[in-house]
Amino acid sequence: MRLPDRVDNWIDGASRPAAGGATMPVVEPATGRVISQLAASGAADVEAAQAAAVRAFPAWMALGAAARAERLERLAALVERDLERLAQLESADSGKPLALARTVDIPRAAANLRFFAEAVRAWRPDEDLRAPHAVSRVIRRPSGVAGCISPWNLPLYLFTWKVAPALAAGCTVVGKPSEETPLTAAAFAELSAEAGFPPGVLNVVQGRGAECGAAIVAHPGIPTISFTGGTETGARIMSVAGPMFKSVALELGGKNPTIVLDDADLDAAVAGAVRAAFQNQGQICLCGSRVLVARPLHARFRDAFVERARALRLGDPLDAATEQGSLVSAAHRAKVSSAVERARSEGGRVLSGGHAPDPDSLPERVRGGAYYLPTVIEGLPMACATNQEEIFGPVATIQPFDGDDDAVRLANHSSFGLAASVWTGDHARGMRVAEGLESGIVWINAWLLRDLRVPFGGVKRSGLGREGGDEALRFFTEPKSITWPA
Ligand code: NAD
Repeated sequence: MRLPDRVDNWIDGASRPAAGGATMPVVEPATGRVISQLAASGAADVEAAQAAAVRAFPAWMALGAAARAERLERLAALVERDLERLAQLESADSGKPLALARTVDIPRAAANLRFFAEAVRAWRPDEDLRAPHAVSRVIRRPSGVAGCISPWNLPLYLFTWKVAPALAAGCTVVGKPSEETPLTAAAFAELSAEAGFPPGVLNVVQGRGAECGAAIVAHPGIPTISFTGGTETGARIMSVAGPMFKSVALELGGKNPTIVLDDADLDAAVAGAVRAAFQNQGQICLCGSRVLVARPLHARFRDAFVERARALRLGDPLDAATEQGSLVSAAHRAKVSSAVERARSEGGRVLSGGHAPDPDSLPERVRGGAYYLPTVIEGLPMACATNQEEIFGPVATIQPFDGDDDAVRLANHSSFGLAASVWTGDHARGMRVAEGLESGIVWINAWLLRDLRVPFGGVKRSGLGREGGDEALRFFTEPKSITWPA
């Protein structure tokens, strides 16, 4: 497939280069080749996008939920029509296996659109309240222009997870995908015009976080900020948006435990833990990077887990047999590699991986790619940096525990609290462990099992607020109470 030579902003229903004409290269991480040039936008482009969004807002809000839902469904149908093209763009941009983009990323983007179309149709946000002395009506209206900033790991999947509820609720949007993976958001914006979204309803500005993202956060006319990305970036955003009293939702990092109790089905737990640790090369905020195993099962589990990790097939993302693609960039691989060196210096024993693959073991096309072997490390205390800091790559640590309380104690020994999975043969026991975990999301005998209605998000340094279902629709609206004497 031919990739676009350049990727521009989408502002007021049209493609536009950055105001100053600046561009930056887009690299295909699996090959190291420059595949496109991206508009490197700044405050002037955000200003233009925000102005277009302000102009479009009254008519979009007045259109009503049913008509907005219908547009979202049309857009979902176009994403499904173009699934193959979008999957190829996503895979080229991020290094992820094409098969994963085809079966997970792009179908989920369409599902996000359909889900919020249906959710907003069923949503009855206004309510009447009667007291002996007063009658009130509480109404919720869209909060205006929403800034939606998303990361590189699940590019269109996470971009639509924000943009769909914002548009459904009646906001207009200034969106920004990661500069590492801009291709699918640009294609998506063009599809929105074909789906009948009026100019200015969905705007996409492209470029670096520190320039273009920061300009969205600092813009006084963008009162709502929905951000998914790293914890440090989230803190920076809060420091700007907080004093401006913006509504902010932050979906940040994780250091998630996979907990295998002594009564777990060993095969199912090993398969689940491998998937949790290494899917998308470990670059999912929900990945289980701390594997905790009940001591009686530990040796058998560890050997099987390591064997499965070693057997994962690295290869060309375009090859259907590839299970592990490239990391998102050479710079990110260098970060992962230095985290593994730190683990060694902390006394960790590397049981598999621990380095990049020999380029000669890879197909010729991808020998210059940012690959890293699935890595399992043991022998580290929970307090060390390896177990405390997010690595966001194909690296998991494994350690034994003694009893369910010890598992909960170790799992909670983290400044993050996004997700956890518990593997057990006894559901009630799994529920007791789940209750004790300081985590926004817990799975029992599953990982990344999603019902889009449930609140999604984390506690502690994993973020603020929740996405999903009505929580997301509420986030993009403001309540107003109107009261009169009874
Ligand atoms: P990042 O924080 O570097 O970037 C995320 C987005 O923010 C990008 O679009 C970037 O351009 C932009 N950005 C960067 N600096 C900015 C600033 N000062 N102001 C405004 N915008 C700015 O994160 P990343 O490296 O793209 O993504 C990886 C991180 O995202 C990991 O920590 C991962 O755990 C997290 N993540 C969290 C979730 C979740 O739902 N909790 C989901 C996916 C990824």
